[in-house]
Amino acid sequence: MARERLYLFDTTLRDGAQTNGVDFTLNDKLAIARLLDDLGIDYIEGGYPGANLTDTQLFAEERGLNATFTAFGMARRPGRSTSNDPGLAALLEAKADAICFVAKSWDYHVRVALETTPEENLASIRDSVRAAVRGGREVLLDCEHFFDGYKADARFALTCAKAAYDEGARWVVLCDTNGGALPHEVEEIVGEVVAVIPGSHVGIHAHNDTEQAVANSLAAVRAGARQIQGTLNGLGERCGNANLVSIIPTLKLKREFADRFEIGVSEAQLKTLAHASRMLDEMLNRAPNRHAPYVGESAFATKAGIHASAIMKEPATYEHVPPDAVGNRRKLLVSDQAGKSNLLAELERIGIKVDKDDSRLARLLEVVKEREAIGYAYEAADASFELLARRVLGKVPSYFDVEKFDVTVEQRDNALGQRVTVSLAVVKVKVDGEHLISAAEGNGPVNALDLALRKDLGKYQSYISGLELTDYRVRILNGGTEAITRVLIESQDETGERWTTVGVSPNIIDASFQALMDSIVYKLVRSGAPA
Ligand SMILES: [Zn+2]
Repeated sequence: MARERLYLFDTTLRDGAQTNGVDFTLNDKLAIARLLDDLGIDYIEGGYPGANLTDTQLFAEERGLNATFTAFGMARRPGRSTSNDPGLAALLEAKADAICFVAKSWDYHVRVALETTPEENLASIRDSVRAAVRGGREVLLDCEHFFDGYKADARFALTCAKAAYDEGARWVVLCDTNGGALPHEVEEIVGEVVAVIPGSHVGIHAHNDTEQAVANSLAAVRAGARQIQGTLNGLGERCGNANLVSIIPTLKLKREFADRFEIGVSEAQLKTLAHASRMLDEMLNRAPNRHAPYVGESAFATKAGIHASAIMKEPATYEHVPPDAVGNRRKLLVSDQAGKSNLLAELERIGIKVDKDDSRLARLLEVVKEREAIGYAYEAADASFELLARRVLGKVPSYFDVEKFDVTVEQRDNALGQRVTVSLAVVKVKVDGEHLISAAEGNGPVNALDLALRKDLGKYQSYISGLELTDYRVRILNGGTEAITRVLIESQDETGERWTTVGVSPNIIDASFQALMDSIVYKLVRSGAPA
């Protein structure tokens, strides 16, 4: 029997951006969009073009994504015509494949929040959908507070949804905006909606305020909805949105769903899920949730003892799905075997061929484990991992030596009597037997060190002239006076290639220096600079 297609719609960049403490830059948004695209997500909601600068720039970019890139905004305001609503105009002009309008479907909100009549609300939905369809866009309508609205006045809520469908909206999305609905309610109400609007045009957008956003999304699918909206790691306002990182493997690996439905995420893409989840956490500079279902570090961890020995004999005895299906790993305190195959897979991914019996592989595994135990994060710092692997395998030339460096930070009054803090770095390097000294001032010690280090590398200067730092993140590990600092640096070159390097030390300058050095050496390796 042919399986039915289920569509995944990600709103990390829009609803996820509402999370307390999350503030995406344009580069963050582009990187997350690529992450989602690589994962095989069907729709990526970018944000509100016209409403803020970052989103307006994002929609002006050449993004080159396979996913349907979607702009979000309000349906036309009451009492205006479509041609006289600047918000709507910005949406229609945005370089987007699809437009998602949000509109009221709860009579109470129409009266109290929108202060208009039910008729005008319906007219706004119809006019907005029609204008976007005419503009050649795929159209979605988010029915805000749909489930509460349905409980209060089912006929009105349905009329709003149906109006969008009748005007040609590809999807009518039922939103549990305050996250209060329960799975049995969602299943019942969606069942009634799909009797009026075909389920192949109905989506679910659930929030996690009763910790059932995933359950509510699956309940909606059981009842007939065919699009699921959510975010990576369940990011979102208050308690978050439905977590796609939990939903995707459930759809792929649980027979009830896997036998009936097909999604855009392939088996190979599913294996990158844990990596994608951790990448997002690194970008947000937050520690990954160890206990996250499927992808958390502890999701397949078992303490030694009878469980561990049983798992070694037959993993299926204790695991509900195979960890490698989602790119996670089984964690036993006794076996190195799993680590080795992960390492081989990782080396293959970055194009380094090693025989599985090569003794240097065991050595590399040991080094990775030692260094991760003291705080290096190779999962996030792909370039540092690659360098470490090449070093242990004997494939990194010694291009130059930093003989010494000196960084000073001085606070004083300047000529205008203002208090200023100035950083100065002096770096002494040896390239090809030649000693070079460079000095640079920066707005901080790391900035000064970076500038001085890259000022004069002799014969290698031309290889690194296009190198620039695009992000710098610091995390203090294990707190207190014994604190260790981890620095992650993201770099970019003239071709647009990006990479991340890591440094760890009790001293933040030293940690930064390690990450800076890795970034420069990585660039030299990638450019094929002669030793
Ligand atoms: Zn929402």
